[in-house]
Amino acid sequence: MNIKTAISEGVNLLSNNLIKCPGLDSEILLAEVLNKKREFLILNLNEKIEEKNFRIYKDLIKQRSLGKPIAYLTKKKNFWNSEFKICEGVLIPRPDTEILIQETLKIFKNKESANILDIGVGSGCIILSILKEKPCFHGKGIDICTKSINLSTFNASKLGINNRVKFIKTDVDNFCFGKYDLIISNPPYIKSYEIKYLEKDVNCFEPRLALDGGLDGTLKILKIINKAHILLKVNGKLVLEIAYNQKNNVVDLLKKKGFYINKIIKDYAHNDRCIISTKIS
Ligand code: GLN
Repeated sequence: MNIKTAISEGVNLLSNNLIKCPGLDSEILLAEVLNKKREFLILNLNEKIEEKNFRIYKDLIKQRSLGKPIAYLTKKKNFWNSEFKICEGVLIPRPDTEILIQETLKIFKNKESANILDIGVGSGCIILSILKEKPCFHGKGIDICTKSINLSTFNASKLGINNRVKFIKTDVDNFCFGKYDLIISNPPYIKSYEIKYLEKDVNCFEPRLALDGGLDGTLKILKIINKAHILLKVNGKLVLEIAYNQKNNVVDLLKKKGFYINKIIKDYAHNDRCIISTKIS
């Protein structure tokens, strides 16, 4: 068995199961098993693969053919400019969420120090990406899920910033500690009954807890806005990821709590994705 044949077997199985990018996925999985870069595979198509490695690869392809996301198979995902360890039970970081990092860095461009809170840390990708860019910032991350707290703690050490962040397992309602210059969150914002219509990869494999925003999708967002009103310093910023159709609803909720709306940013597909607001009183 050589690399070329292994990839084409992978492509066959994945395309028969209607997986969107069979070639790319097969290459990523084989590269992972061989502990090589994808470029190596392309340049060494005739190289032989050990039987043991081929079996491991076939097993990964089988799992991918059932819809399991690549990041759960490789146990890692690149986000902003770091590689994060990922595990099942924790949301996989999305490219659209990088918009929150980009905008936050713009707002805090000239600020030397800040205390930040990330609500619903998941893998820790948001708060850790910001802390890595801003070496004098520090903060806290909370999540209701133990797996997320453990994974974020691991990722903080991996990135060498564990001395500037503390992760706490708690519900947003029960957290009432500190005063922050920035509160940031990619909360669960999908309407409960719409989760079943998401892609199979998401619906069947990613944690419902990280997606489910209640009946109208804003249940958790409302809790975060209320808590941000208490925990933000005056002039502190709230940076929220939202669903493509939640802009008006969330703007109303923010205004009711006395927040000033600074900016609404669209994602790569031109959908409203991020709201930046300020606590003004
Ligand atoms: N903050 C994490 C992320 O954006 C987790 C978000 C969540 O679980 N809803 O990936």
